[in-house]
Amino acid sequence: MSELSLEGHLHRRCGGHYALAVEEVTIRLSGMTAKVERAMFKCDKCGDKQHTVEQREAAEREAVLTMRHQHQLLTAREIKLFRESVNLTTAQLGELLHGLPKGIVEGWEKGRYLQSPAVDAMLRSFTDREERERRAVRAGFILPPLPGELVPDPAAIVAAAPEDSPALAAHRMAPGVPPEKAASAPSDDVVPDPEPAPVAAGVYG
Ligand SMILES: [Zn+2]
Repeated sequence: MSELSLEGHLHRRCGGHYALAVEEVTIRLSGMTAKVERAMFKCDKCGDKQHTVEQREAAEREAVLTMRHQHQLLTAREIKLFRESVNLTTAQLGELLHGLPKGIVEGWEKGRYLQSPAVDAMLRSFTDREERERRAVRAGFILPPLPGELVPDPAAIVAAAPEDSPALAAHRMAPGVPPEKAASAPSDDVVPDPEPAPVAAGVYG
């Protein structure tokens, strides 16, 4: 017999035997609730209930599925397809979401974890590239190019340049002065002259 199953096992305390049964349970996640059926093994004599890890996980996945449907949240597949469409790793997407560990993102994509409605709204906002770029700058990294793009957007590189880059910092303080003149750093400490950031919103597609 599989160790995942208690079917027919003796309940020593009462002399009964366990058999597969189903119960309805209410599961709470991220402030939401769902009623789902959960499989278990129930003693035929005293009614004692035992759940395997697999039975608990299956019920939680069912609850996640139900809540996503009830609250119209992104599905596991939608999250994964979106992430891949913008060429982000699970770790990078987590970074954009206030530094969530990548294991959380992986859990969403496997249907094991549930994103809160607030996080769901943030994920949806990332379909806008400018919003992703703002978040990436805050998180301190440069977005990878989209599939088919060869290089990151130059505006993103300038915006994400480290604060301690003296030429760029000086350029920000005195935008009219070219960075190589405004910088107090030696001129052979080469810092590329940043291209002016494109202003038109349309450039992001
Ligand atoms: Zn029993």
